[in-house]
Amino acid sequence: MQEVQTKRPFITLEQARALREQFPTPFHLYDEAGIRRKAQLVNRAFAWNKGFKEYFAVKATPNPYLLKILQEEGCGVDCSSYTELLLSEACGFSGADIMFSSNATPVKDMRKAYALGAYINLDDLTHVDFLKDVAGIPATVCCRYNPGGVFDLGNGIMDNPGDAKYGMSEDQMAEAYTRLMALGAKEFGIHAFLASNTVTDDYYPTLAGILFRLAVRLHERTGAKIRFINLSGGVGIAYRPDQRENDILAIGEGVRRQFEGILVPADMGDVAIFTELGRFMLAPHGCLVATAIHEKHIYKEYIGLDACAANLMRPAMYGAYHHITVLGKEDAPHDHKYDITGGLCENNDKFAVDRMLPKIEMGDILVIHDAGAHGFSMGYNYNGKLRSAEVLLKADGTAQLIRRAETPADYFATFDFTPFYKGKLDER
Ligand SMILES: *Cc1c(COP(=O)(O)O)cnc(C)c1O
Repeated sequence: MQEVQTKRPFITLEQARALREQFPTPFHLYDEAGIRRKAQLVNRAFAWNKGFKEYFAVKATPNPYLLKILQEEGCGVDCSSYTELLLSEACGFSGADIMFSSNATPVKDMRKAYALGAYINLDDLTHVDFLKDVAGIPATVCCRYNPGGVFDLGNGIMDNPGDAKYGMSEDQMAEAYTRLMALGAKEFGIHAFLASNTVTDDYYPTLAGILFRLAVRLHERTGAKIRFINLSGGVGIAYRPDQRENDILAIGEGVRRQFEGILVPADMGDVAIFTELGRFMLAPHGCLVATAIHEKHIYKEYIGLDACAANLMRPAMYGAYHHITVLGKEDAPHDHKYDITGGLCENNDKFAVDRMLPKIEMGDILVIHDAGAHGFSMGYNYNGKLRSAEVLLKADGTAQLIRRAETPADYFATFDFTPFYKGKLDER
């Protein structure tokens, strides 16, 4: 069976060969032009809303060079930890450029978010007094909503909020707003993340309808002034070549219709719409570049790469599909069935199972697509594997190293070896 090859990598074999001379594989590669186009498209989709802002979910791709590109395109950042806040601060984000959407929040993290003037998104009712006690109550505070039950888009159940650890019930939201107002808060945000990697233009508009109606009810019930509604992340991408891509312009238009139908008649047409997209912004604009270093024929055909699940864990962790292109063989017949593996001592370290690909020779360069978000950032050091470099393919066609590869010294940096060396050092 021959797979229809509709996904094309953003580099050619010639480009990859030149890059491999400079940066040994494996490395993550990002496409500046694609990232800028995507940010501009998202801003265009929501241009009808005066206060619109995309807060890129830093956890998806925490690299300052990429955050800077998004900042230049008008994006803010969504952080959930102390180090993500530090990284964003170093890039020059502050105040209303930062959403802080955390849960089980440590004191240190909450204080840092407060000090930066970030929009703080409270995950729980008890966090109202926690915020007051450890930092203070800002003029604008956001609360995270969880409607419970199952989230059904009409064409199937998308996710199960009743099982999710995040957010508060509607009654708790009302109680939080009332208490926050008594403590001096003036304006409020609403946030919810109900489904992940949705491949439908209906997710955001449906979510918007739920949150806009909630905003009207909360305003009527508590008198709270709603300043923004954050639709958070969850707009997905077409990982598979046969999937249809989300149309962000249609999505923005769907949200606008809900806005006109629900908020405007309630005299709440000044509410700003925020998003916290991670995957949709960057996943297609990054890939993992690896070299085939081993082939093995036993009961199945295996190709071993110099990359492994430590560089991209989604296939191992979720069985997630990532498309693979053998560079230079884009149009060759896909008549070989392979398992494409990494070298971890874990049998789930497979980028693909029973994948139809062209015949692979040792030294071939493979591109693993859609690794630009939740790729490098989920990496780990199991088996002593070192994290790879990250390289930016700039809009002018040149390449820039935006994070060097780890060395053994990085891996050992958190040990103090001096007790073991002591005798030897004394001898010297
Ligand atoms: C992970 C996360 C996002 C981004 O999710 P994507 O699926 O990458 O769009 C946004 N907001 C919050 C609070 C998150 O935890």
